[in-house]
Amino acid sequence: MKIGILALQGAIREHRNLLRRLSIETVDVLNPDDLDGISGLILPGGESTTVGKLLVRYDLLEPIAALGRKGLPILGVCTGLILLSKHINNSEQYRLNLMDTYVERNAFGRQLASFEADMSIPVLGDKPFHTVFIRAPYINKVGDNVKVLLSDEGKVLFAEQDNLLAVAFHPELTDDTRVHEYFLNKINNFSEQ
Ligand code: GLN
Repeated sequence: MKIGILALQGAIREHRNLLRRLSIETVDVLNPDDLDGISGLILPGGESTTVGKLLVRYDLLEPIAALGRKGLPILGVCTGLILLSKHINNSEQYRLNLMDTYVERNAFGRQLASFEADMSIPVLGDKPFHTVFIRAPYINKVGDNVKVLLSDEGKVLFAEQDNLLAVAFHPELTDDTRVHEYFLNKINNFSEQ
């Protein structure tokens, strides 16, 4: 199994290192050919307006959107959550337009723009997950086909829609591999269908 990591901007190395610890081969995705033969794709955190423009410039926006529509498992982290979304409140920025989610960007107030907290995420088991939020978005509304995996005070922070997984915090910045393992399980389940 080989996992692509979109390598235009942001926390790329952290995902690569984490997947390496799980003995998973990765490829940096910088042009459409890099998408050949991948079993899943990670969209790392960064700045979503910039990454959206770069996706267009590198001819990656439509190829990735097409793969997502066909069922390629995609994990969107923070900026990736924004890019996966069909709806971004008050923004016309480029996006992949795949998940039936409504996203608020930079939505935690200024003082709370970045914070860490231990949160219980039932699909990951009993042990709380140490979540790291950096100028994070949240989802304020989801369609019927979206499963909420974590929400806090009405803010959806981790969600799933078929082959797509969106997370508002940064699992690659901890030693906890459970979000990535959840994604890898999803890839295995999809390829068995
Ligand atoms: N605030 C950023 C954005 O809107 C996301 C921050 C992140 O990816 N850590 O794209």
